[in-house]
Amino acid sequence: MFDLNEHSHRRLNPLTGEWVIVSPHRTKRPWQGQTEQPNQTVLPEYDPECYLCPGNKRAGDKHNPKYSGVFVFDNDFAALQPNVPEGSLRVGDLFVAERERGVSRVVCFSPNHSVTLSRMNVSDIRSVVDEWAHQYIELGEKPFIDHVQIFENRGEMMGASNPHPHCQIWASENEPNEPVKELRSQREYHEKNGGCLLCDYLRLEQANAERVVCENEYFCALVPFWAIYPFEVMIIGNSHRGSLDQFGDEERTAFADILRRVTTRYDNLFLAPFPYSMGFHQKPTDGNEHEYAHFHAHFYPPLLRSATVRKFLVGFEILGSPQRDITPEMAATKLRELSETHYLDS
Ligand SMILES: [Zn+2]
Ligand SMILES: [Zn+2]
Ligand SMILES: [Zn+2]
Repeated sequence: MFDLNEHSHRRLNPLTGEWVIVSPHRTKRPWQGQTEQPNQTVLPEYDPECYLCPGNKRAGDKHNPKYSGVFVFDNDFAALQPNVPEGSLRVGDLFVAERERGVSRVVCFSPNHSVTLSRMNVSDIRSVVDEWAHQYIELGEKPFIDHVQIFENRGEMMGASNPHPHCQIWASENEPNEPVKELRSQREYHEKNGGCLLCDYLRLEQANAERVVCENEYFCALVPFWAIYPFEVMIIGNSHRGSLDQFGDEERTAFADILRRVTTRYDNLFLAPFPYSMGFHQKPTDGNEHEYAHFHAHFYPPLLRSATVRKFLVGFEILGSPQRDITPEMAATKLRELSETHYLDS
């Protein structure tokens, strides 16, 4: 009899319409709890060489102010720029290019070089949440911006060149690929079923709870049924909200709380700073309602079974479909067992 815990199968990601292959028979062995020495490296609170620390020099002749809370600036090496001349290229259907305008910013979470979301207190993370909401509004209000992408690359493995706690915001003229797929699916689901894809999905997950990692009154963190990365996590709100600025006061604090708890569990998994790309999908800022869009956060961490063994998307995975061995249910169980006190603080 077909068993998701035994037999190779594929799972549909209803947000993207794409499939992931799951091979549970390859991980018959119980979890090999790697006995590693905890990574005790603690960075200095101030690094004179860091271009994100307060008062320090950045590219050109710019200097950071001696900031004491959250600090935002336009990226000195912006991938997207607001002033690009009108233009396009089209040769039949085969060579197609269009102007893409945008704004790139950097958000420093804290003046303290040594902290991470996992080791900040909830009220300090709450200040970051408020800044994210503010940035979403401010950038989204620009007439040429239809999408505001907030994301954090953490760890050298993810290409983050600087450990100072920060994220980036790329606000773009057009909706990027992933949101295009997810918005289309959410819209089609709404047209077909009347409800919201992620509201309905979250209710199913909460009824069963085998993929739920942790929850608070307003948010649920889970390993999605269709996860590609071993310890991929989504944070979904219990209430239907299209964007961060729609969160009430308690909801914003609850979001800060769940971010701290998820990132702490991540660090506790291999007793080391856990690398990831994390970001939010919010409704477009093109002036339309998009009432079917449900705010959520994605965490895509590359680590497989230790602080050094990472997953690469290669071979069949880039030519065909992504594949995983450890099931999302196993990963959720593992993450659920972990403490919410950071290993460096316990
Ligand atoms: Zn720094
Ligand atoms: Zn919803
Ligand atoms: Zn998404």
